[in-house]
Amino acid sequence: MAVQSLYRKWRSQTFAELVGQEHVVQTLRNAIAEDRVGHAYLFTGPRGVGKTTMARLLAKAVNCLHPDPAARPCGVCEMCTAIAEGRAVDVIEMDAASHTSVEDAREIIERVQFRPSVARMKVYIIDETHMLSTAAFNALLKTLEEPPDHALFILATTEVHKVPATILSRCQRFTFVRHSVTSMAAHLRRIAAAEGIALADGAPEAIARAATGSMRDALGILEQLASFVEGPITLHHVQSLLGMTAAAEVDALIAALLAADLTAALRAVNAVANQGADLRQFARDLVERLRAVMLLKATGDRALLDLGDDEVAQLAQWAQQAEMAALVQWVKLFSNLDYQLRTTPYGHLPLEVAVVEALLAPAPATQPVAPRPQPARPLPSAPVMAPRPQPVVPAEPARSIYMSFVTAGMLHPQPVVPTEPARPPVAEQPTPAAEPVEPAAPAPADPPPPPPAAWAAAQHARPPADPAAARAAAADLSLLEQLEATWEDFKRDVRPRSPTVQALLNSARPYDVEGNTIVLLVSSAFHKERLEEPKNRAIIEEVLRRRLGKAYAVRCTIEEKSVEPTDLRGKIREARKDELVRAALNIFDAHIVDIEPLEPE
Ligand SMILES: [Zn+2]
Repeated sequence: MAVQSLYRKWRSQTFAELVGQEHVVQTLRNAIAEDRVGHAYLFTGPRGVGKTTMARLLAKAVNCLHPDPAARPCGVCEMCTAIAEGRAVDVIEMDAASHTSVEDAREIIERVQFRPSVARMKVYIIDETHMLSTAAFNALLKTLEEPPDHALFILATTEVHKVPATILSRCQRFTFVRHSVTSMAAHLRRIAAAEGIALADGAPEAIARAATGSMRDALGILEQLASFVEGPITLHHVQSLLGMTAAAEVDALIAALLAADLTAALRAVNAVANQGADLRQFARDLVERLRAVMLLKATGDRALLDLGDDEVAQLAQWAQQAEMAALVQWVKLFSNLDYQLRTTPYGHLPLEVAVVEALLAPAPATQPVAPRPQPARPLPSAPVMAPRPQPVVPAEPARSIYMSFVTAGMLHPQPVVPTEPARPPVAEQPTPAAEPVEPAAPAPADPPPPPPAAWAAAQHARPPADPAAARAAAADLSLLEQLEATWEDFKRDVRPRSPTVQALLNSARPYDVEGNTIVLLVSSAFHKERLEEPKNRAIIEEVLRRRLGKAYAVRCTIEEKSVEPTDLRGKIREARKDELVRAALNIFDAHIVDIEPLEPE
């Protein structure tokens, strides 16, 4: 096998044996059968896709001795075998890349005027045509302008843009496409079977993928593997020969990303690193795979992927599972790693960081901002009465959150210290509009600690609202939200005491909290009347007291307040409905103290 390469040995001898390029085959077969073969063809396309093989088939076809034109080339007649073995004097193969001497190429081309000695047609196969010298191109051009009847030129090139337009315009042009992984894998299996080489599952596809569409490369890889592997060639053999990373680790990482399983994701990265695999190659394989999932999700078109059926099934499942925005984010994230992995002194750290980032910074479009879980501090049983023990100054809250809703309280919290002497409300502090007061400006009695400089300007931009009122409103609304969230449980607690009251409550919902009074919105005057009957109200208040740890009065209303909140309380109430605001309140353990308009008045 070492003597004759697999590619040469298995070069197609007839059109029927040829793999791929069906569009070219069909056109040429028709031309031969109908005896209307032209004088000049140009085959373009990437290397290793069969341009030269096709040229030889065409050379044989025009000279084949088979009586039926439709059966040419037969592959067995004297002419066919002579051409296949490279001993047909009338078929001249030149590699323009090696015939750079002006005289050589020009002289050879000019000899076309002599009639063929044996064959019907004198065939010139010029590989890498774009490499011809100017003199050779001129000689070729002159010939193509008035080609002798017995001449056939087949030009092949990988770089068609370097071929002069004057030549192009005189040729019939065919574009060769890369072989698909599927068709290459099938061809590899056929050849391996005939050669007695055992190929394990997945190996032909891996070889095909590595060969990126070139059959010549694929057969070269197969040949190398066969020469050093004893027994069946496995996927692992292919990967270790080519320095490919384990597809299994790539798949494990993608599965972990989709499951948002950080541990499994990091384990996959470390498994690759421990194997001593090429991390950049791993990142590239990962991006290629994620890209395939993204394409599949975007288009649903399996033809775009050029993968085996079993692989497509896996990708389709992932595509279904994945959020498009997350896929886009991951592709961007991991495709940016190549440079870092090349230059970092920290091994696979960039890959780990990217994995953590992929899972901890979800793509904005898909994942709503989820409120962070409450800090370990237990919720006070009666939020309304419990002032925040330690209002937290956000060290540096996200700018966008600060801008979207506001809050003197967050900017300038006032720690509630029981021993602190009564402090005048902030609004009464001297704040000349024209001249912003220094944060350290003397205040009566005990001055509050200066706010961080970054917030000082904002603080003085406009007098904050009454902080006490705001804090009370915040406490009320926080209790209201608690009631809303647990309303079903509340009604369940009422039931053992009075199924009737529970039934009435089915037409009611918590509507407001006014200090020590809880307001329920009910659907009719009838409900209001019944619920406010002393014995019914006592039941409700008793259950509330048990659940909230404090006595509250209850009243009912059948009127909703105006939709447009004008007072601070109404504005805060509206603002708290925004999930981003609620998330920020949770994250910073803050409460709203003021609402500022977005535009300066
Ligand atoms: Zn023949």
